[in-house]
Amino acid sequence: MAKRVKKRITKKVVRGRRATQRRTGGQNSRGRVTRKARTAKHVYFFGGGKAEGNRDMRNSLGGKGAGLAEMTNAGLPVPPGFTISADVGGLYYARGGKVPGSLDKEILKHLMRLERLTGNKFGSTENPLLVSVRSGSRFSMPGMMDTILNLGLNDETVEGLKRKTQNGRFAADSYRRFIQMFSNVVLEVPKEAFAGVLERVKRDQRVRQDTELSERALRIVIDRYKRLVKRQTGNLFPQDPYDQLQMARDAVFRSWQNPRAIEYRRIYDIPGDVGTAVNVQLMVFGNTGNRSATGVGFTRNPATGQREFYGEFLVNAQGEDVVAGIRTPKPIAELEKLMPSAYRQLRTITSRLERHYRDVQEFEFTIQDEQLYMLQTRSGKRTGYAAVVIATDLVAEKRLSSKEALSLVDPESLTQLLVPIFDPKAWRALPTVTKGLPASPGAASGHAVFTSADAVLSARKGEPALLIRKETVPDDIHGMHAAQGVLTATGGLTSHAAVVGRQMGKPSVVGAGELEIDEGRGRVRVGGVEIIKGEYLSFDGLTGEVKCGQVATKPSEILQVLEGNLDGNHSDIFQRFERLLRWADAHRRLGVRANADLADQATIARAFGAEGIGLCRTEHMFFGEERLPVVQQMIMADNETDRRAALDELLPFQRDDFYDLFKVMEGQPVTIRLIDPPLHEFLPKREELMVDIAVAEARDEVDELIESKRQVLRRVEQLREFNPMLGHRGVRLGITYPEITEMQSRAIIEAACRLTKEGVKVIPEIMIPLVGDVRELRAQRAVVDRVAVKVMDAQKVKVRYLVGTMIEVPRSSVTANEIALEADFFSFGTNDLTQMGYGFSRDDAGRFLRIYQDLKLIDRDPFQSIDTVGIGDLVRIGVERGRQTRPNLKLGVCGEHGGDAASVHFFHEVGLDYVSASPFRIPVARLAAAQAALRDSA
Ligand code: PEP
Ligand code: MG
Repeated sequence: MAKRVKKRITKKVVRGRRATQRRTGGQNSRGRVTRKARTAKHVYFFGGGKAEGNRDMRNSLGGKGAGLAEMTNAGLPVPPGFTISADVGGLYYARGGKVPGSLDKEILKHLMRLERLTGNKFGSTENPLLVSVRSGSRFSMPGMMDTILNLGLNDETVEGLKRKTQNGRFAADSYRRFIQMFSNVVLEVPKEAFAGVLERVKRDQRVRQDTELSERALRIVIDRYKRLVKRQTGNLFPQDPYDQLQMARDAVFRSWQNPRAIEYRRIYDIPGDVGTAVNVQLMVFGNTGNRSATGVGFTRNPATGQREFYGEFLVNAQGEDVVAGIRTPKPIAELEKLMPSAYRQLRTITSRLERHYRDVQEFEFTIQDEQLYMLQTRSGKRTGYAAVVIATDLVAEKRLSSKEALSLVDPESLTQLLVPIFDPKAWRALPTVTKGLPASPGAASGHAVFTSADAVLSARKGEPALLIRKETVPDDIHGMHAAQGVLTATGGLTSHAAVVGRQMGKPSVVGAGELEIDEGRGRVRVGGVEIIKGEYLSFDGLTGEVKCGQVATKPSEILQVLEGNLDGNHSDIFQRFERLLRWADAHRRLGVRANADLADQATIARAFGAEGIGLCRTEHMFFGEERLPVVQQMIMADNETDRRAALDELLPFQRDDFYDLFKVMEGQPVTIRLIDPPLHEFLPKREELMVDIAVAEARDEVDELIESKRQVLRRVEQLREFNPMLGHRGVRLGITYPEITEMQSRAIIEAACRLTKEGVKVIPEIMIPLVGDVRELRAQRAVVDRVAVKVMDAQKVKVRYLVGTMIEVPRSSVTANEIALEADFFSFGTNDLTQMGYGFSRDDAGRFLRIYQDLKLIDRDPFQSIDTVGIGDLVRIGVERGRQTRPNLKLGVCGEHGGDAASVHFFHEVGLDYVSASPFRIPVARLAAAQAALRDSA
């Protein structure tokens, strides 16, 4: 049960304090100014055509309070009331459940003003003032916090309400609703207990709907509810309206911290330290009979963006009935027939609100005896699809300039337009079995498979498969490619599965820790359910939800156009999407490139508007079926000659890949990074080899075969590292095996020479990874330049190329002035920079970062959105020091952060030249870059 608050809001307390203050002139006995005299304003009145607040005061009044104030000032029919500022909500948590001392007095003053304005009295048995107490923070969090309606009713005032309205049924219905809501929200009596009582009375009375219960039956409900409260809490239901108000207010403050609200804030990245405001407002009643109603609506369709008045309502009901799904609401169009004048007024008012706010409005209303009241207005939450439609429509309707329309679309929401989507009804019908991190958006549905080989096999048979792995490794690339989606039990948002999933535009959910995967036996258990290989599973890469069974999906129309399967002239959404992004391009300063490894990815990236490749991870080219055995030979070689022989075999593959990539990106820069990951990632797994050898021995297989496996195992063990992420990777490979750098440089320059001869403009940028000391870069640059000169001499053609480095080791940021001596460009590798700056392993941090977020030790996953303070400073230092040495140094970023809207803002501020993002995040980056530039100029 909720703790009873000690100090009560009573007229006596306030009168006494006011008298003391008047006497002392706000000074205490020692002559100091009392705290009371210095306190800030906490409560803001609205009513009688005027409000103390307005739309610009969202931070203190919350969205609802600011909307109510603005509507009141505009002369709209809003029931009067007052808003207790969100600052008090913030203080309430900070002080462990205490409110400022002056608050009760301020509330009482406003309550008395409300009484004067309405002619009602709080607690009166003649003319009782009844109020609603509702939450409302500066961030819209629909349905996450609590609300209490009909406050002020008790055993006596309910009779007053009956007398005044001559409607005993309505009075009793309001009181039973109040007991139910108050006891649930404030006294924490479970909802189900009340539902049980109500159902039993309905059964006894032989009625189906709540609205069919008579006054007499409702009074039985009230008696039983009160007994239930006494049984569950040990106390009588509170009868004093002032007590009720104080308790309700505190409960609404507390509801900011309920698990639902916390989870919502986590998902939508809303800060937890701001708190909610509380709105206390005169009750208007949608439950007085069939001439009353309550409903919610949007000025345009929030799912499709269409220009249609959209919403639902219930006759003879109160607000919670619409949300609670007790009765099925009717489409708002039907209101026109039932209450034409209220409907017309609602249309006029909401259109006016949309024009006033210059955005789609989501509103709540109540009609009491055919009289309309507005209870809320706010910017409507919408899907990414609707956001694009609405923004482009508002420009076409000349309500907004194209520049203003850009701010109406959340860049992140654009990804929703590119992924296949579930049929929403079919998806909702299935229960969620577990949730992971939403790594790459999209709907995925298919047979469960547990190995990449099975994923490929399924694809060959034309069967959709979902690849389920504890974690994916680079060898899984073909399985990932073949599967409809990838689901892993471990790993964070920059784990292999996540990075590759996004790059491929493949729906992926990672780090679903509840999955107990038995890859060997082809089964996974979760939440008491077992899914065996071949059974259907579905997940949504946008939310991380996983469900059992098959769900129908639809492909993204935009992608169909970009891939040439649909004529863009026939796709309205494609044209709008293009238009919006063209507006964005006109305002952004940052360039946008793509992280893409192969020509097909580059083709899509270019279609999405990439202006170059910012990162081609060459090791991804090693994973093709024909290449892997040659790469393995190269690694197994224990002398330079054998290694060179294997590299010679790899050369044509790489050269062809680069040729294709350059060709697709004709005229645009292509940054090719030399090999980065530790070599043992290309070899079979140690444990698997050991099992293989044991089985071969048990079966008495041929000695040579066993010996060759042992040889591989020995090499795997030699190469094994405790911290591969910090081990023999990046430039360290090129330093120890310069022949790899030679082969890759030769492949790049040969491909470039060939295209130049063919008249294709190529702009290669060769990038050395993981450099920490200028001497590493100098040594590698010497190899690249030597090979380049040799190739160009042999080919008799000149190609302009750049050599640069990634800045991804903290030391390279700090010594950027030295590194810039050898670099034509820097590309910040913020994945590694975050790993090494924080000391969080990219492979393992997923296990505890969520807890860190819950404990508020970090705000967001720093691998997803750049930590602007610490890691951001490493970037800032790199930029400043690099440019000290070379004022024209070209600067970009190619970590995953390049596709994160908040990070793009940061990169704009620190003055980078471009961001590079995975192909499907290019639209996000284009829009975010425009918003960053517009914020600058605002
Ligand atoms: C980085 O570290 O930010 C980066 C782009 O390289 P990778 O993710 O391949 O290590
Ligand atoms: Mg890196």
